[in-house]
Amino acid sequence: MDALDPQTALAEAADAGIHCMPIPTPFLVGRVNCWLIEDDPLTLVDTGPNSGKALDELERALAVHGRAVEDLELIVITHQHIDHIGLVDVLARRSGAEVAALDLLAPYLGDYRRAAELDDEFAVALMLRHGIPAEVVHALRAVSAAFRGWGSGTTVTRPLAAGARLALRDRGLDVLHRPGHSPSDTVFWDERRGILLGGDHLIAHISSNPLVARPLDGDAPGQRRPQALRTYVASLRATRELPAGIVLAGHGEPVTDHRALIDERLATTDRRAAKILRLLGDEPATAYELAQRMWGNVAVTQAFLTLSEVLGHLDLLEAEGRVEEREQDGIVRFRAVGSHS
Ligand SMILES: [Zn+2]
Repeated sequence: MDALDPQTALAEAADAGIHCMPIPTPFLVGRVNCWLIEDDPLTLVDTGPNSGKALDELERALAVHGRAVEDLELIVITHQHIDHIGLVDVLARRSGAEVAALDLLAPYLGDYRRAAELDDEFAVALMLRHGIPAEVVHALRAVSAAFRGWGSGTTVTRPLAAGARLALRDRGLDVLHRPGHSPSDTVFWDERRGILLGGDHLIAHISSNPLVARPLDGDAPGQRRPQALRTYVASLRATRELPAGIVLAGHGEPVTDHRALIDERLATTDRRAAKILRLLGDEPATAYELAQRMWGNVAVTQAFLTLSEVLGHLDLLEAEGRVEEREQDGIVRFRAVGSHS
């Protein structure tokens, strides 16, 4: 079967009652796709960031379909990132809608300020441990704190277990946990129509950065750091098995040939791991030093993102026995197995 073109895919989704509403964000990623599902209950998937401009545009987009915020009956959240959750509390309060999200995400949304604070503490410790200079770490922490207001928490009234089915009048959506891009990534699978509501799990025009993030079930001391890229690769392989005709993504156009795109993402991961191994050479290096060799100054301005990338690929190499790590005085250095130093 030939892949659909993205416009046809959107038209098919609309025929199935699923309408794309791209909402502006102040972030580099651009607009976030929220989805209106014309069903019973009337459902919104993801909300856009917590801003007047986003709310304005969401109201206008709903009006195109003859709907208002007050008509919403169910809000579904795909994952914990602020461009997807920001308006959830405002919308839930104005409409009285139920809020559905992965059960693991419910406590996070229930105490968002505290969760965001813990996320920042986790990120600071991770960055320092991997050789990012303290002044860069503190600058990034200030940026993160400034962004926090774009997000929001809420009470999840319908926690969803992974593997459960969310039943609407005209469709059943299988709740599939696909962590990697974030710990809470949840995709919603309409098996009958072959349509997957994918959040940021798989995006056509950009890779879904697997960010190292604090585990949702806490951060037990002594626990190994979360292996976001390895987790993401496993999630991609699981999604590859689904016979999806259309993946409705959280940003950009629908994915219409998910197997080809997943294969491309996996091949890029292998290439990048090989490159990082070459850059490592014979001398031990921190993940930050490797990020600088890989991306130059971007490793400073986008320190957490590039650190996540490097650590993710080092985790893959370590699992293959090609790299090992050693901690000294609180700083972790990696070295190629078989090198002499
Ligand atoms: Zn995201």
